[in-house]
Formats: sequence, C-alpha cells, structure tokens
Amino acid sequence: MKRIVVLGATGTIGRMSLNVLKRLKMFEVVGMSANKNFETLLKTKKDFPSALTALTGIKNEEVNFYGKDSIEKLLESTQPDQVIVGIAGFAGLKYALSAARYSKRLCLANKESIVAGGKFFIESVKKSECEIIPVDSEHNAVFQLLDGEKSRVDSIILTASGGAVRNVPLRGLRDVSPQMVLKHPIWNMGARITVDSATMFNKGLEIMEARFLFDFPIEKIKAVLHPQGKIHAMIELEDGTFKMHASKADMRIPISYALNYPKRIKLFDDFTPFGNVTFEKPDFKRYPALKLSYEALKDGDGARVVYNAADEVAVDAFLKKQIRFTDIYEIVLKVLQKKWPKTLKNYEDIEEVDKKSRILAEEMVNTCC
Ligand code: MG
Repeated sequence: MKRIVVLGATGTIGRMSLNVLKRLKMFEVVGMSANKNFETLLKTKKDFPSALTALTGIKNEEVNFYGKDSIEKLLESTQPDQVIVGIAGFAGLKYALSAARYSKRLCLANKESIVAGGKFFIESVKKSECEIIPVDSEHNAVFQLLDGEKSRVDSIILTASGGAVRNVPLRGLRDVSPQMVLKHPIWNMGARITVDSATMFNKGLEIMEARFLFDFPIEKIKAVLHPQGKIHAMIELEDGTFKMHASKADMRIPISYALNYPKRIKLFDDFTPFGNVTFEKPDFKRYPALKLSYEALKDGDGARVVYNAADEVAVDAFLKKQIRFTDIYEIVLKVLQKKWPKTLKNYEDIEEVDKKSRILAEEMVNTCC
C-alpha cells in the first residue's frame, strides 16, 4: 500500500482527493492537514482512522500537530510515498517544498508554488529526488500528451472556458457581482480560481506554470477559448499534427492519474456524450490579464510573484465587494508597474516580494473606490 498525505484536506481538491482515495484500495491515507477548519478535518478523519492530523492556522488540542511547523512535523512523522498538495495560494509553496523533502512524488494542484517559485522551486524538488505529477487539469493533460512523445513539440496549447461572465458585454463587465462570477459553467472549484477563470488570471498563471513545469519557451505556450470544457490541452507537433486530451471535467480524473501514474484506474462507469467542441482565439480586451501574463513572464522572477500575490488580494477584495470586477486587473497592473527584482534565488527572497506586493495591492484596494 502506498502511503499518502493530503495537504489542504478540507478544500475542494483535498475533498475530491479523499473521495478518490476512499474508492481506491491500494492507498493508505497517513496524514491530512487543514488551515483552520478543524471540525471538517476531524470529521474526515473518521474515514481514515490511521491518518495523523495537522492544523496550520489555529491552535487546537484535538489534532496531532498545530501551528506554523505542523505540516513539517506531520510529514516528518509519516514519511509518505506521495503527497497531494491541495493547498490554495502562495502558502502552498512552502509546504510543497517540505513535501518534496519527505516524499517521492508531489501530486501538485497548487499552481502558485510553480508560478512564484519558478526555477528555484523546480530545482529544489529535483534536488530532493522527488517527482512532480501535475494535478491542474490542463497541465495533467499536457503531461499525458508529452508522455512517450519523441517528436518535436512546436507548441503547448491550454484551453480556457472563459469563465462565468464570458457572454456579458464588455461595457457591462465592471458591474458584474461576485455571485454572477462564481457560477462557473463547467468546473466545480474554489472561489479564487473561479473568479480567476472569469478574468483569465487563472490561464495567465497556468501559462507561467507550463513554462516551468515543462521547461518550455513562453512564446510557444498559447491559450484558446473552449467553452465546452471537454478538451483540456493540446500539443502541436512538428509535422502539423495536433494531439488533444479529452476527458470529463471532473478533477477526480487528474487526481487519480497523478496518484496512480503510470497506471490508470477506472473511476466512473458513466459516459458523457461528446457533442460539439469549438475553439476560439481569446480576446485580449476582454481578458487583459492573459496578455499581462506574457509580459510578467518576460519581466523575470519578481513579476510572477507579484502577478499572483496582487491578484490574490484583489480577488479577495472583489469577493468582499470592496472593488469592482474590472478593478482586479487594474490593481494587479499597477502593482506590477513598480520595480521588482529580476532574479529570486531562495524562498526568503520570494516571500519578501510576495509580502511587499500584497501590502501595495491592499493600499490600492483601499484607495481604489
Ligand atoms: Mg486548470
């Protein structure tokens, strides 16, 4: 039996992972972590009695470990074969680095660790002799498409649904409410990523993620609008062939793939009929965040950290109705326009840029409206 730790066990990815792990008999969940939601964590533990529990955000005597280094302690005492990193946001970077030290495989759903960590993160994981299997659906698809592909790959194409407000006229975008934006047409995901999918900051982050995960040149990574959410990615080969990856839009499929790789395990009996699929070039006027991601990628390490951090702050403010939908982009743009370091070589340097850009983004939220 493979021994698994699930970080971020009470979030969307964590809950789906535990759902998969409960069905598959060849894994033992030896550890679970949450930020503050100890009630759900302890309730979940009933299904996985041998799992140790850790809580990072608050003190609680009922869990095995709590506090800032609780995940480190959890990993040290369980020494798992694989870790599912389902923690959302920049916080995931630190824990993904710890998970790489204590296990042999990261089933990585946290894209921010790759975006903010960049080369430093990829090299640190490699040094720890740990492999990364991406769980992010598009990157999981690219990983599968590249597997065994010997011919030259000319481009990587990530698909984007366009989010919940993709049909709202451009002029109306500034007035869309969080409620409207949170109604994602295809995927069931957390709040931040659902907003990011409507602005395409999510696709911007994913372009950055692909750049480092697959060590691929920026100009050869593209995004296309594909509202049906059936094709998750494509690769274009030198002879003009396009290989596409299709599956049901259910995160349990990439989670199971990452856990079982190189094997495949049957998860569902039901079959989704295919129907029409369409592809369109995304409009930069509607999705300026997408264009901004290429600019930030060219700007070096600091800009990527800022792109993520400022967006995290702005999305949070939008969800609290402190700013408008279109202010999210404006705030990130303004924070990016400050001077940021081109190279970040260690965690401390990355964290410093993350903190500074958050403070700036918060100031802008407060003076914005
Ligand atoms: Mg994705």
